[in-house]
Parts: sequence; C-alpha cells; structure tokens
Amino acid sequence: MVRARPRGAIGGGAWHVRSAAAIRDRSAPLELLACLLAFASLPGNATANMFAFLPSITSHRLYVSGKDGLRTSTLKTESARLQTRVGCRSRPATLRMVAAEKKVPVNLYKPNDPLIGTCIYNKKIVGDDAPGDTCHVIIHHDGKLPYLEGQSVGIIPEGTDEKGRPHKLRLYSIASTAAGDFGDYKTLSLVVKRLVYTNEKGEEVRGVCSNYLNDIKPGTPVKMTGPVGKEMLMPDDPNATIIMLATGTGIAPFRAFMRKAFVEKHADYQFKGKMILYLGVPTSSSLLYRDELEEMKANAPDQVELHYAISREMKNKQGGKYYLQDAMAERGEEIWQLLQKDNTYVYMCGLKGMDSGIDAFMKDLAAKDGVDWATFKKQLKQQHRYNVEVY
Ligand code: FAD
Ligand code: NAP
Repeated sequence: MVRARPRGAIGGGAWHVRSAAAIRDRSAPLELLACLLAFASLPGNATANMFAFLPSITSHRLYVSGKDGLRTSTLKTESARLQTRVGCRSRPATLRMVAAEKKVPVNLYKPNDPLIGTCIYNKKIVGDDAPGDTCHVIIHHDGKLPYLEGQSVGIIPEGTDEKGRPHKLRLYSIASTAAGDFGDYKTLSLVVKRLVYTNEKGEEVRGVCSNYLNDIKPGTPVKMTGPVGKEMLMPDDPNATIIMLATGTGIAPFRAFMRKAFVEKHADYQFKGKMILYLGVPTSSSLLYRDELEEMKANAPDQVELHYAISREMKNKQGGKYYLQDAMAERGEEIWQLLQKDNTYVYMCGLKGMDSGIDAFMKDLAAKDGVDWATFKKQLKQQHRYNVEVY
C-alpha cells in the first residue's frame, strides 16, 4: 500500500501546501496541520481521489514549493500531481461491512459516553451577502462512528447552560457519504447554519451549537453521539428515480446521496437511475454546494436534474416568494407521473412548513386524476417511498 506523506521525499522534493485563505487566517497552521493529518492517514487507494471528494477545498489556490521553486496550484491539480508521483491508482472504494450489509448503526454513542472526534476542517460556504453564515465542517472520527447516507449525528457543544449544566446535544444531518469526504471512512461532514435572532426584548440571541460549530477551529475535540435516523436512508435500487426536496441545510443528506451515486466508485454499487434535486435557498449567494452539484450534472447530464428556488430573488406566478414548491409546480405533471412508478422515491429535508406547501401543490395535481393525495401519500409512506425529515 502506498502512503502519501505530509512532508518529505515524495518524488525527492520537499513540499507543502497552503490555501490562500489559510495564509490570511490565524487558524492557518491548525488548518494546514489538519489537512495534512487527514492526508497522511489515507490509505493508498483513497489518496488518488481524496481531493476530488472535497470541491470546497479544491478551488482554493495553493502555494506549493518544490524543487521547481514556488508556484501556485490547486489541491485538485496537486492531488493529480502527487498521484502520478507516488503511483497511486484510482481503484474503486469498497463499502465497509456495515454499509454493504445495510445494517443500520444506531446510537453507538450516547450523551453520557460520547465519542470524542476532532474537527479537521471548517469553512464558510456561503457568500458574505448571504443572510446568515453556513459552514462545512469535517470531523475526524477515526472510523469509530460508522453511519449510512441519510443519518444524523448528535453534537454536544462545549460549555454549560445558564444553570451550569452541560449543554444538551443537537442533531445534524450528515452531509458526507459513509466513506466521508476523503473516502477513508474516518470522517463525517456537516453543513451548519448559524442561528442568530432577536428576542422579544430586542436582544440578539445566538444559538448555542450552531455558533459553536460555525466558530470551531480545526484541531478542536468534538463530542458526538449517534448515529441516528432511519427515515432518510437511500433506496437499495440502483435504478431508482430519487426526488430530493431540500430547503437550506436540508441539502445535507442529498449531498451524501449524490456523492455516493456520482462521485465515488464502489465495486458493489453503481447508480444507474436518476436524481432530481429541488433546492430552496434565500439568495444565490446561499446556494449550498453549487459547484459540486453542477459538476455532477455536467458528468452525468442524463441522470442529474437540478432545480433551484431562490426565494428572495425570484417571484412565483402570484408575485410572491419563489419557493421550491413553485419550482416543482412548473414540472408538476412530470412529477405526478413519476410518482406512479414503483421505483420513484421522494425525500424531503429542511424547514418544517415546506411539507405543507408541497402537500398543497400535490393535492391539486392528484385531484386532477381523481386521486386523494392524503391517501396516496400514506401508501407511498408505507412503501418507504415518501420520506420526510423536517425540523
Ligand atoms: P439553540 O441554542 O438550541 O436555540 C434554538 C432555540 O432558539 C429554538 O428552539 C427556539 O426556542 C429559539 N429560536 C430559534 N429561532 C428563533 C427565532 N427566530 N425567534 C425566537 N426564538 C427562536 N441544522 C443545521 O444547521 N444543519 C443540519 O444539517 C441540521 N440537521 C438537523 C437534523 C435533525 C434530525 C434535526 C432535528 C435538526 C437539525 N438541525 C440542523 C437543527 C439543529 O439541530 C439545531 O436545532 C440548530 O442548529 C439550532 O441549534 P442551536 O444550538 O444553535 O440553537
Ligand atoms: P435557509 O437558508 O433559511 O433556506 C430556507 C429556504 O426555504 C429559504 O429560501 C426560505 O425562504 C424557504 N422557505 C421558507 N419557508 C418555506 C416554506 N414554507 N416552503 C418552502 N420553502 C420555504 O435554510 P436554513 O436556515 O438552513 O434552514 C433549514 C432548516 O432545516 C433549519 O430549520 C434546520 O434546522 C432544518 N434542517 C433539518 C434537517 C432534518 O430534519 N434532517 C436537516 C437539515 C436542516 P425565505 O427565508 O426567503 O422565506
């Protein structure tokens, strides 16, 4: 097995990588260390595609010093360069037992005995003009927290509440596949929106855990519980049509689904069906994971459909905010026909309230064919073809 090393004699020249943001940022040494640690711990077969798993990092400019002097590069090109130098081959990843046998791991860690992982990456992934911060956080669990795509993890924030008791856990949907962003089954990723609101006294209140995660520095230990959740697991059928409905950070499980289908290579799983994503966000600067979603679409145009509903920039037919149910309504007949096929699966994740908006729109469509939507939806749910996790 070939192991890449963070520093030293790969191809004979000393080298280092550093992102432009990391150079400006005081957390740079930790961030750099974390990236290098993650890199060093990878098995050879995962190394080749490691950076391809992480487009939010790959777009950063790097300063690379080697025998050939200082030059700029990107992690993607750097990864390709290292791949050639160390002779890694891109072999298909194999799912670990837990995923392959579809055993659903649940509550391996409880609040009184949490797993302590380490944050290895944290980056804001929305524009500065987006309403609110949202970050992509990667936590290293050293392979001790196996999970399936669509599950959630509990995070226990540092510190105590106003009564001096340790904070309670908050749940977050896991945004990475079972293999994690680096393909080594040792990390999990979260997409977290910072909660800030003004209370009735006019005071600014900051949510405990979402702020803890948005501000966390690479290298910080993180208490985790879980994994939990069976509602949002991916269907086994590799020919399925999967309709994914997300508001904001509700994209998390769908990023995992799509990366498993279109980014990773598995000897025992090849997705041949279709994934249709409807994503609702307030502004175009808050479109989460846009680059990687677009890349997946470019690579599999017949299998990926992306529909964005940008509520504060687009208007619906009534002149109101354009929500994802408005985007769906434009292709309503097609969606209704798809739902008649027994290998179409619907998943909904994000804001409480989106489900009633979608019901209202589906009710009218079903009624045109003399079908009662509530009854039809109940049947779909019984068949695990209509899965809702909203909060
Ligand atoms: P807290 O300190 O817990 O404060 C939240 C409380 O503040 C609310 O209960 C409410 O009482 C109050 N509050 C909130 N907004 C207002 C307001 N506008 N006005 C008045 N009071 C208000 N979040 C993500 O960002 N990403 C995810 O992937 C994600 N996945 C989830 C998955 C599941 C299964 C569940 C149940 C939740 C998920 N959440 C996710 C939400 C997450 O668990 C937290 O609830 C969220 O991050 C806020 O936690 P906090 O500790 O920052 O806020
Ligand atoms: P956000 O950035 O605020 O985006 C949400 C988008 O949905 C906005 O465009 C919003 O429009 C729009 N919207 C508001 N009401 C809607 C409705 N009734 N129907 C359809 N669209 C609607 O999102 P966020 O802050 O990340 O919030 C996501 C929520 O999902 C959070 O509450 C989070 O806790 C939850 N979540 C749950 C899970 C889960 O249960 N597994 C996972 C992840 C996230 P306007 O703001 O312009 O009105």
